[in-house]
Amino acid sequence: MKKILMIGTGGTIACKQTEQGLTPGITAEDVLAYIPAVKEVCQVEALQVLDLDSSNMTPSHWKIIVQAIEAHYKDYDGFVICHGTDTLAYTAAALSYMIQNSQKPIVITGSQKPINREVTDAKTNLLDSFIYASDDESQNVSIVFDGKVICGTRAKKDRAKSYNAFSSINFPYLAVIQDGMIIRYIPENEITQEVKFYYDMSDKVCLLKLFPGMKADVLSYLFDNYDVLVIESFGVGGIPATLMDTFYEEMEKWRNTDKLAVMTTQVAREGSNMTIYEVGRQVKQDFHMIEAYDMTLEATLTKLMWIKGMGASNKMLRKMFYQEINRDILFTRKAFVEVN
Ligand code: ASP
Repeated sequence: MKKILMIGTGGTIACKQTEQGLTPGITAEDVLAYIPAVKEVCQVEALQVLDLDSSNMTPSHWKIIVQAIEAHYKDYDGFVICHGTDTLAYTAAALSYMIQNSQKPIVITGSQKPINREVTDAKTNLLDSFIYASDDESQNVSIVFDGKVICGTRAKKDRAKSYNAFSSINFPYLAVIQDGMIIRYIPENEITQEVKFYYDMSDKVCLLKLFPGMKADVLSYLFDNYDVLVIESFGVGGIPATLMDTFYEEMEKWRNTDKLAVMTTQVAREGSNMTIYEVGRQVKQDFHMIEAYDMTLEATLTKLMWIKGMGASNKMLRKMFYQEINRDILFTRKAFVEVN
């Protein structure tokens, strides 16, 4: 029987009703006690590392999770992390960069309703996660939620209340789990290298969401205070005319430094391509601008935090950003041609 470590971090799955609202408080051990059937799937031990509403999750908490997995990596066949749904997609993307080449599965799950409610998705999500984490073919960082297995770099929370809270963006589900059976769409047993752990995520990466009528003054502040500015633009990506002058001034100022801007889009599906419209093409050419293509926003931000966390120069960043990690980008080859 496989030996799995369940890591508790809080979230709705472990929430209790209080006068102040739902708040994490059910211990990892107690969460496990709600699914006695797990004994037929695997041998589980529980470890509580955090007790947070995931709205409060930060990169320093990701580090605590990574440290827990590294400390116990040799002792278990797989890991199931219980996490709040609100920032689960960010954590899954962050862990995809912070723990690379894991031949052992690291599954992240949670629920929309606490496990102590009569009607809840928590028990199914948790049991499915143990089923997936105990399977010989499972590897790397993924999310198990509402019967779907989503690659760690491809998830987005796109429903606030329904059980099917997460979608897989620009990539198929890795598998579905129906009545306890895993139906795989994408083979998983590809990793042959040694697992690698990283801890440092830069806090100098910032996100700017554009909106019609936005003023340019915010750009100078952001360029002054951050190393990487991710611009969440419209459609396939571009800079509106009202921001263009300030954008050019700022980009010129930082041209020979290790600061840069990265383009992504507010549109969840199908990704960016700055070469299509005039509002994007010239800027991309003039500043040799990196764009996220088919990557999720969650993966784009956390990948940049990880790359910058290693102290990478811009030259290095341009190369590393387009190197595929845990299936985060499909445009690799095309983008690689462009940056070289
Ligand atoms: N606010 C909760 C959290 O993210 C929501 C949830 O877990 O569903 O921790």
